[in-house]
Amino acid sequence: MAKTPEIKAFVLAKCPRCRRGDMFQNSMYGFSSQKMHEHCPHCGMRYEIEPGYFYAAMYVGYAINVALAVGIGLLTYLITQEDKSPWIYIITILTASFLLAPLNFRYSRVILLYWLSPKIKYVAHYDEDK
Ligand SMILES: [Zn+2]
Repeated sequence: MAKTPEIKAFVLAKCPRCRRGDMFQNSMYGFSSQKMHEHCPHCGMRYEIEPGYFYAAMYVGYAINVALAVGIGLLTYLITQEDKSPWIYIITILTASFLLAPLNFRYSRVILLYWLSPKIKYVAHYDEDK
């Protein structure tokens, strides 16, 4: 069986190595808490490469939040050019970052594993046809 294309596996938050196993145990907007599988259910890769590895995802999440705040702020400015109240910016930016928090949490880890840790895709003793 061929691997899922990388961009599709990225969007679906699949294992960065085999691109088949799910990284997360539940859906993004489920009511239960966000939980990650410790190991890939398909190839058994350990996601948290070393203790505290996902602390680095906080920086990625921070960068996503800043980009989001700038984007939402610009959009708010374009839509409400006459309104000079800072509250409109505060409310729209906070609402957007609150609503997108699960997405941010998930993709900060996915980005970390996919693009900021390129070596883990080539870890030895992985059988392609498993
Ligand atoms: Zn895997």
